[in-house]
Amino acid sequence: MSIVQNDIKKLETSNCDQDKVFYQAMEEVIYSISPLLESDEKYKKYAVLERLVVPDRVIKFKVTWLDDNNNIQVNTGYRVQFNNALGPYKGGLRFHPSVNEGILKFLGFEQILKNALTGLPIGGAKGGSDFDPKGKSDFEIMKFCSAFMTELHKYIGPRIDVPAGDIGVGSREIGYLFGEYKKITSSYDGVLTGKPYMFGGSLMRPEATGYGVVYFTQTMLDMENKESLVGKICTVSGAGNVALHVIEKLLHIGAIPVSCSDSQGTIYDSRGVDLELLKELKLEKRVSLERYIEVHTEAKYIPVSDYNQGEHAVWNIQCYAAFPCATQNELTELDALNLIANGCTCVSEGANMPSTPEAIDVFLNHQVCFAPAKAANAGGVAVSEFEMSQNASMQRWSFEKVDSKLKNIMQQICKRVVLAARDYGVEGNYVDGANIAGFKKVADAMIAEGI
Ligand code: NDP
Repeated sequence: MSIVQNDIKKLETSNCDQDKVFYQAMEEVIYSISPLLESDEKYKKYAVLERLVVPDRVIKFKVTWLDDNNNIQVNTGYRVQFNNALGPYKGGLRFHPSVNEGILKFLGFEQILKNALTGLPIGGAKGGSDFDPKGKSDFEIMKFCSAFMTELHKYIGPRIDVPAGDIGVGSREIGYLFGEYKKITSSYDGVLTGKPYMFGGSLMRPEATGYGVVYFTQTMLDMENKESLVGKICTVSGAGNVALHVIEKLLHIGAIPVSCSDSQGTIYDSRGVDLELLKELKLEKRVSLERYIEVHTEAKYIPVSDYNQGEHAVWNIQCYAAFPCATQNELTELDALNLIANGCTCVSEGANMPSTPEAIDVFLNHQVCFAPAKAANAGGVAVSEFEMSQNASMQRWSFEKVDSKLKNIMQQICKRVVLAARDYGVEGNYVDGANIAGFKKVADAMIAEGI
């Protein structure tokens, strides 16, 4: 039985619910890279796939903290250090009640290949906690972050593992985590990225993932000889860091983003969404999107309770390009069919694995230009690496310098993906191209480093 068949069999017999998303990510990669595994014996000889799918270590710890009523609260913290063949472990921290080991293994696994695709010297990791920041006071967030770092600091370091933000972890949380790390270790290390600018953060880190998604999409459309995004209607899901900056860059280039969403509902504003209002609601007031229609009465708010089974309102709007930027598996097969029926010709993933495997099949079968997350949203981790470089050399780069390096890196990633797909007989398939190019880079390093 070949490695590929063997691994797929293992996936099919797995019945661990938590690990489902991890196996979903792994299965996609295993299928994609089969032409590479079959073309070169060395990957089998050195058992690279078997070694790559097991994290180097999974750290799990208790986080105990006091809420504002002086009640003791207990959460679970994790850091999955997946692979450091190419550089120090690197990947975000997610604070969300849905966090468990399986979700972090999926995100960490994707991060290995994404980081490899950037061409930068960084390995793959992910971490976080089931702590829910929603509804917590600033002091509670601070106390939780301090307690989380009390344990995490033992496992990280500027040359060991450099965490960043993700869902529920923005510059406020990174600031508190950094403050605690500094207090415990007495060292001013660039041990976290996504820091506020005033103490070592990089300009453009907040914008990087979203801007990078749009840069990647522009390059992909250009390489595929498709019309550009200028003047085109675009749909976006999410209303967090990634979504807001996708919307911002789309507006910069003259596209018309008409939607956004959160866990409670979707906004559809056919004249183009009001970004300033969105930032006020989501970044300053941290309230539901429903408040948007108090200001723009002609816009539509569709609550989650009105969605049809298996569909999301945001994907039922006529558009040229769609940008899923909220969370994993938020775009189903039905959503994909709705998008195609509504004229969508391009889908670029801002979130990690937002499209289900069935949705991706629909896109590929209908010749939709499809940019998978590990290629399209790699701009965030690329600028995180720029932050590490700036911290190590005690330099501050200008916004223009970071932006131009980001644009260049997104164009390079797109070219790497296209070339890998062409070289292995799957021309035009960005999913396979990204998996092959990322895997090859890590696998070759693993072989060269021995077992
Ligand atoms: P944020 O926490 O800033 O925002 C997440 C957004 O998604 C919020 O609007 C949230 O709504 C919404 N959301 C979360 N869960 C659901 C759900 N089940 N249904 C509908 N909406 C939901 O996170 P980010 O923007 O940072 O991250 C978004 C995605 O991008 C994630 O997949 C993340 O892993 C990925 N990513 C992020 C990077 C970064 O630099 N930040 C880098 C690369 C990938 P609500 O406010 O109601 O919770």
